[in-house]
Amino acid sequence: MIITKQKMLSDIIKAITGYKNIFITGCGSCATLCKSGGEEEVAQMEKYLKTKGFNITGSTIIDEACHVLLTKRTYREHLSKIKKSDAILVMACGAGVQASSNSVEIPVIPALDTLFLGNTIRFGVFEQYCSMCGDCLLEITGGVCPATRCPKGLLNGPCGGVDDDGMCEVDRTLKCAWVEIYESLKKRGHLDRMKKIIPPKDYSKNRHPGSLTLKKRKGSAK
Ligand code: SF4
Ligand code: SF4
Repeated sequence: MIITKQKMLSDIIKAITGYKNIFITGCGSCATLCKSGGEEEVAQMEKYLKTKGFNITGSTIIDEACHVLLTKRTYREHLSKIKKSDAILVMACGAGVQASSNSVEIPVIPALDTLFLGNTIRFGVFEQYCSMCGDCLLEITGGVCPATRCPKGLLNGPCGGVDDDGMCEVDRTLKCAWVEIYESLKKRGHLDRMKKIIPPKDYSKNRHPGSLTLKKRKGSAK
């Protein structure tokens, strides 16, 4: 899931100052689960902006605000309200904001900051396990990503800063990623993999902007 966090209200107000009529868009997927842009947060934002003198022309929650076709279709359904709006405030990740921008011709303003691809640990608690490098090596490291979970991104064993309890020197509340890797490999009987030298990652696989078109591959399972 894409983890987002609402910007400071003062920053949102600064960004929409100069526009009177605002349409608000939320996202029914990740931003709902992050409690940054779901129904409740959109309703709160609407209420807050009204107290600040803005006119809210309407609001919508798009099931997946990053889905360009779905976003275009939703805005077509709200065309009369969009026509009366000076700007759209989007409570979704950066991909969602751009899907909106792609679908309308009025200014589109982000209300959230997009932070990372997150694992849900429990309700309302998210951690980053993968930084989407495009060159996955988890089979070597027992399913624990050193590129992400070690703050220094060390691929071949720990730095000298691991403390005696196995905690990370950068953040003493985190277990060192390489201690996690060791324990995971040991549990699986794969400790020999600790000796494998991992070559530098092929970051050309993580070129921006990314793009993928699904095609049926010869010999694929489907
Ligand atoms: S190696 Fe790359 S793709 Fe695999 S978990 Fe780590 S960051 Fe993600
Ligand atoms: S203590 Fe471990 S996780 Fe922390 S920076 Fe060093 S190697 Fe990385």
